[in-house]
Formats: sequence, C-alpha cells, structure tokens
Amino acid sequence: MSCKHKYKSNKILYNKIKDWRLNTKGEWSLIKCNRCDLIFLHPKPTKQSFQEIYPNNYYTHIREKAKEISKIKKYILYKIINAIIAQYGYKNSNENFIEISNKKLNGFNINNNYLYYIAGKILKIIPLLEDLIVRKIMFIKGPAKGIHLDIGCGNGWLLDRTRNLGWNVLGIEPDPKAANQAKKINIDIVGNKIENANIKESSITIITIRHVIEHVEDPSSLLKQCFKLLKPHGKLIIITPNIESLGYKKFKKYWRDIDSPRHLYLFSIKTLKNILIENNFSIKKLRTSSPSAYKMFIISNNIKRFKKYSIDCNIFIKIKSFFFTIKEELLRLFIKNAGEELLAIAVKNEKSK
Ligand SMILES: [Zn+2]
Repeated sequence: MSCKHKYKSNKILYNKIKDWRLNTKGEWSLIKCNRCDLIFLHPKPTKQSFQEIYPNNYYTHIREKAKEISKIKKYILYKIINAIIAQYGYKNSNENFIEISNKKLNGFNINNNYLYYIAGKILKIIPLLEDLIVRKIMFIKGPAKGIHLDIGCGNGWLLDRTRNLGWNVLGIEPDPKAANQAKKINIDIVGNKIENANIKESSITIITIRHVIEHVEDPSSLLKQCFKLLKPHGKLIIITPNIESLGYKKFKKYWRDIDSPRHLYLFSIKTLKNILIENNFSIKKLRTSSPSAYKMFIISNNIKRFKKYSIDCNIFIKIKSFFFTIKEELLRLFIKNAGEELLAIAVKNEKSK
C-alpha cells in the first residue's frame, strides 16, 4: 500500500480484543488509519506465534464429513443448483458439478434443458439464493477455458469443484497439512506462497483469494503478484469480511470476523477498491453479500454473551439469527455495504501497466 498507516493520530477503534476462538494469550487493538481508512490489527503476531494461532486443528486442515440428507432434499438441491450453475456459462457442459457440502451429491450432470434455463432465470431474481450457491464456485463464470489458481486453497475443496466444471487447476497453500490433503485428491500444489510459486507470468485465467487477503502481512504485495501471474483480461476474484457490515455495527468488538490475531486487515468497499486500483486492476464488480450472516450472528452473539467462539445456541437465537439474515438481505437493496462479506471481481486490463 502506498500508505504506510504511520500516523500518530490514527484512530483506535477498540482495545483489549482477545482471541475468542483459540484463547491465544494476548490482547490486540483495532486501528483505523487516519489517511486511507484501512483498518488493521495492532500489534501484528510474530512469525514464532503462528504455530499457536494456526494450530493443527485449524479448519483448513480438516475435510468436512459428508452429512446424510434425505432423497427429496437431495432432488430439490440438484434442480436448484443445476438451474443456477447453468446461468454461469456451464450450460453446455457435461461435466459433473460436485458436492455442495455433501459428497453424496456427486455425479449428476448439468442439464441443457430449456426448463433449467427458465428456472435459472427465475432463481437469479432471488439474490440470496444465487449468492449461497454460486459462492461455492467463487462466482467463476464458464465456459471453463484455461487455468484457475486458488491462493490459500486449503484442502482443495474449491479446486475440486472447478476442476469438475472443466478448469485446469493449481493451488497455493502455506499449511503443509492442508496442502497434503489437497495433493491426496490430485491437486497440483505449486508452492506455499505466491512469491515462490512455480508459475509462468501471464499464464493464469482466474485467480481466487477467498478469506485470505485479511490474513496476509502485505495485501498489496499479494495483489502485485496476482497481477503478474494473470493473463491480459485475466480475472481476480476476492472474498473477504466487510468491516462496515450490519453485523459489525451490531456486535462491534465482538463481531466474529475481527478474529484476532489472525485477521491483520479488515476491508470496506472503499479500502478494497483503493488497494485494487493502486495495483492497476480494473474493477468489474464490488459489492457485499449476506450468506454468512446467519452463522456470524450466532457466533458473535456467543462471543458477546459468553466470551466464547461457538456455533451452539438455542432455538430462540436461531430464530433471531434467521430474521437478522433476512433483514440484512433486504437492507442490502438500499444500503450497499450492509452485507457481511465483500465480493470483488477485478480484471487485468491490457492497458493497465
Ligand atoms: Zn493508511
């Protein structure tokens, strides 16, 4: 970032934030840069503490177990997923679109049928439904042509899906255990970070960075590397928490996605836009979305009330959380930055640099 955020008058948003999730020792502050508005954690965790803040049971290590679902639910899910994915340029594909949280959904085909096409058009009108499903392939439009690189690919769940849609896939993953899980399903891991990855410049069609940019020491340097690796007109797709969301405004320092000390930076529409433009990207889409609002509400509520990061709660909280999600989704029609997550789709223009 051109701004070094070193201003004596930088605003302290919150002090004494704890690691509610893993109970790492320490307290952190959330600071807002007076010049560029970027929000960041202080102090930054040391490299030596990484083993503690990303322990072996951190979620990217584990491959989710398949849940049992009923036949009817499965049938309806197939129809809805097919209809929506068909809208994303995969309608001529006979590739299997795989599991949506469930391995047992393997092996059904994307149908070319006009009924699916019409159903998809109708379903696209319901934005939450679209966000819930297309987010699972990181909003990557078809037809699949070229290489999809996922940075921080974890156990490879996303690359597994896009490979099934016809993409050639590559992954970068710093955590050796997660990388091993990905290798087990034959995903090519080309490095543990982008700087040392074995990739030709200007060779990648799509780069995805899902819940990663807020974890890295230097987000701007990450974007610079992405720019180099992308082909002309190649796309960068980012999902990261939105620090101006309705959830943040409600829970403040107890908001789940502060997630200190793992989240080093927290972006807004404005600051994400700035960092992309500074790195010569053209922005195609930059908006917020709400599919994570439901879980966010439950976890943030537990942090606030019990100082504990947990998804367990009673039925009343579940109902409250459901209505909060609906409220946020409706509010998003009028207030652009209400959603819990930011979605940015940016393009490497030939003219840019
Ligand atoms: Zn700054």
